[in-house]
Amino acid sequence: FRHGEASEVVVSTPNGHVSFGEHHPIVVVAGPCSVENEAMIVETAKRVKTAGAKFLRGGAYKPRTSPYAFQGYGESALDLLAAAREATGLGIITELMDAADLPAVARVADVIQIGARNMHNFSLLKKVGAQDKPVLLKRGMSATIDEWLMAAEYILASGNPNVILCERGIRTFDGKYARNTLDLSVLPVLRSLTHLPIMIDPSHGTGRSEYVPSMAMAAIAAGTDALMIEVHPNPAKALSDGPQSLTPDKFDRLVQDMSVIGKVI
Ligand code: PEP
Ligand code: MN
Repeated sequence: FRHGEASEVVVSTPNGHVSFGEHHPIVVVAGPCSVENEAMIVETAKRVKTAGAKFLRGGAYKPRTSPYAFQGYGESALDLLAAAREATGLGIITELMDAADLPAVARVADVIQIGARNMHNFSLLKKVGAQDKPVLLKRGMSATIDEWLMAAEYILASGNPNVILCERGIRTFDGKYARNTLDLSVLPVLRSLTHLPIMIDPSHGTGRSEYVPSMAMAAIAAGTDALMIEVHPNPAKALSDGPQSLTPDKFDRLVQDMSVIGKVI
């Protein structure tokens, strides 16, 4: 069980420091699944910033189920994230899949994301543990809470204390109506087990944009420290995860609704 106070993860962004943790307002991270081109990422960044997001998310390296699916634009997408950071001052969160890309990702990212599929990649965890950027560690889709916490421990034990845990839904036996089962019970459970900040990702958690607002609200009611929400200017045309992406207008409305029940910065 947890010993001691909640820890805070303080991230420096061009717009100033943003603190994640139990005693801080809710931090909202938003943006497309994949970085597609400069206009869309900069436009999305501006819209989510105006709505209240503090971080822009967007994948340059995408862990797709099929090797024939869009894999992300790689380093050129990192340059576009840098342009969006420059244009808005938002912090950047993007996924690292291969340790060989760590220097390039760390140059642009304010927080490095380890995706669900790499939660068990212990050598990658050790490498992000041995560098300075904070790490967002997603729960593996079939990982137990203890396995997830031990994955976090790999990062902490390698010297990096700045880890944020992100629940993104676990494998479901009923994929007909939702892509995953969003396990919101991790909020009280993790609170009792760990001092680390907790983020909920209702976009991957449900796979359907129409279910995202209610799950985001429920996560706030259950005490989440942060939310990750996929937003795309034209979800129907998205290169990945369009069905679960909110339009900027819907995202804007959601942040307003969330602010009624929780303190969102
Ligand atoms: C993502 O954030 O776009 C992503 C691929 O997430 P996950 O690792 O949770 O599937
Ligand atoms: Mn996605």
